[in-house]
Amino acid sequence: MPELPEVEEVRRTLIAAVRDEIIDGVTVLRPDYVRHGRKTIRNLKGSGIIDITRLGKRLFWQLTPSACMVTHLGMTGRITLRPDDKPAEPHTHLVLGLKTGKFLHFSDARRFGGVWLYAAESQALQAHVTGRLGADALNLAVTDLDGWKQKRVPLKAELLSQKTVAGLGNIYVDEALWMARLHPLRRVDQLPHAARALLTHCIHEVLHASLAMGGTTLRDYRDANANAGRFAQSLNVYGRAGQPCRRCGTTLRKFLIAQRTTVICPKCQRAGRHRTEK
Ligand SMILES: [Zn+2]
Repeated sequence: MPELPEVEEVRRTLIAAVRDEIIDGVTVLRPDYVRHGRKTIRNLKGSGIIDITRLGKRLFWQLTPSACMVTHLGMTGRITLRPDDKPAEPHTHLVLGLKTGKFLHFSDARRFGGVWLYAAESQALQAHVTGRLGADALNLAVTDLDGWKQKRVPLKAELLSQKTVAGLGNIYVDEALWMARLHPLRRVDQLPHAARALLTHCIHEVLHASLAMGGTTLRDYRDANANAGRFAQSLNVYGRAGQPCRRCGTTLRKFLIAQRTTVICPKCQRAGRHRTEK
């Protein structure tokens, strides 16, 4: 948390508010939250914000003259617009003042997130994307999963790794696997093409449904205007262990995969068998 829909919602609310803004002041409250470019971040004074793009759970801020700032919200990160520079959250690590009088506050209680500043976008991509992030889950094509034929990795671990599909975390992996009726421990090399196609479709479905409701807020997540998402009540499996499957009524079960709580329907998601019928 937050995952792709929440980061995308932050991006949308941010860019609507700060595109073409000029950074007028940089206040670093916690230097080690700036993971790269700690010495140069104050030079951002005078830079313009051209665009904010997203890949997976990372945002890439295109700044003039040529800088690129990468932000990751980790578990508890927030980027919010406020009318003044006084830290409103107890764990505010960075405040960027904007020429029109607004302030961008970067807060993160648990500090699994961060801010990285690079002199050029190519450096940002080299550090954050190359060899680390696969296709963005929102733009995933079934051909992006072709490499799975050679990978002997369980489905859930592979999706959480970000290496083929970027942007999904524990919530949306469990939701997409339930929708596609796939057991999280199935090996990716054993999925037939039809299962990969169905999974691609279900990932899109789950993400678009969440985006339409502003994402999922369990506790910490807020968009740039400090609004919570409303998708939590629409979750089918995540957080619903012990409750009936919304499709077949079987009691949902939870177990651990790689230290992550995983919730499945034991009837809909059988190991070693793929079912496409609805
Ligand atoms: Zn079921």
